Amino acid sequence: MSTYLRELMCVHCDTRFAVGPMSAGCPACRTETFASSVTPTYDYERLRRDLGDGLLREPDEGLWRYRRLLPVQDARHEVTLGEGGTPLVALPSLAGELAAEDVWIKDESRNPTWTFKDRNAAVTVSTAVELGAQAIVVSTSGNYGASIAAYAARAGVECVALTYPGIPEGTRTLIQAFGADLKVVAPEERWEVMQQGMREKGWYPASNYTAIPTNGAFGHEGYKTIAYEITEALGTAPDLVSVPTAYGEGLFGIWKGFDEMKQLGRVADVPRMLGCEPAGGPLALAMADPSQPIARVPRTPTVARGIGGSVNTYVSVAALHASGGTVAQADDEAIMAAQRRLAAEGFFVEPASAAALAGLRTLAAAGDLPEGLRIVLVNTSSGLKNLEAFNTAFSDRELEPATHGAF
Ligand SMILES: [Zn+2]
Repeated sequence: MSTYLRELMCVHCDTRFAVGPMSAGCPACRTETFASSVTPTYDYERLRRDLGDGLLREPDEGLWRYRRLLPVQDARHEVTLGEGGTPLVALPSLAGELAAEDVWIKDESRNPTWTFKDRNAAVTVSTAVELGAQAIVVSTSGNYGASIAAYAARAGVECVALTYPGIPEGTRTLIQAFGADLKVVAPEERWEVMQQGMREKGWYPASNYTAIPTNGAFGHEGYKTIAYEITEALGTAPDLVSVPTAYGEGLFGIWKGFDEMKQLGRVADVPRMLGCEPAGGPLALAMADPSQPIARVPRTPTVARGIGGSVNTYVSVAALHASGGTVAQADDEAIMAAQRRLAAEGFFVEPASAAALAGLRTLAAAGDLPEGLRIVLVNTSSGLKNLEAFNTAFSDRELEPATHGAF
């Protein structure tokens, strides 16, 4: 199968590398306090010539119809559970509240394991298969671990999931249901255990394993397809895309997708990206001081546990700067209020996902959200993934008995 894939390039220093795993980021600009991920580049000139004004996609459904812009070189290595092709649904009453021209929700909870992580996992596991991996390791206590476990099962590849004491019951059940070997490690030992397994057992890393986090070279390519689908649905780019953010791999991938659409002449401008994190998160600090693009903060508990990080990545800062975007923070109360507001529209999203709306409200309250924008909120995962957070609001209420004739 022909491919337009060319090489890997550092997001920070532009150094080029041959295509390979490179999960620890760019060696050329790494220091004791800094590291950047690398990202695939494609032959955009040839793509532009070959595609003309024609369809970006091939006839397949979902994510793989964009295979010409994905890093898997042989279609026989594509691992799919039918991910992608999620709906973009208009929320007119919310648009009114935010003084926006339009607000849409890109509902990623319709993916195979109910999260946008499936786009990442599909590409990560496919590239692992293409690179000859016999076993995949992932260090996580959240949605990504369950997603990698599902795709590894689909590929028939062994999966080791390293997690921490206190993993949420739902995630644990899913990871085990998909047949992964779930092991508990102390948080301070996880990188060491992972690196040892990579050295001694040939585990292929599907997640970060260094103290200064970098994302793998390929997973964010799955997230790009969210931008392609939005572009195809709207016929253009929106003005603002709001994305819940921890390591910012999704934020970066979506930005890159729009940037590629611009390079291919499909959109006039790349939308501003809004990274939404819990109050006290690291990304706001990293954006505030350009000389310190990697920030660390004490880890504080948050109801939005999927985005409760203590350190950011360089790529999230790079995507925000490149798009003229910004960061918005929201506390637990605001996040839960946003979850209820979306539920009132019929969308039951995870608290981490609700941060996309809570962050927009933070901007609006500060007078930093211009009127008349066309906005896309990315719902990254289903509320069923974290029922505990929502149940606390209801579980202590007595259900009212109803009998025939009681109304
Ligand atoms: Zn570099």
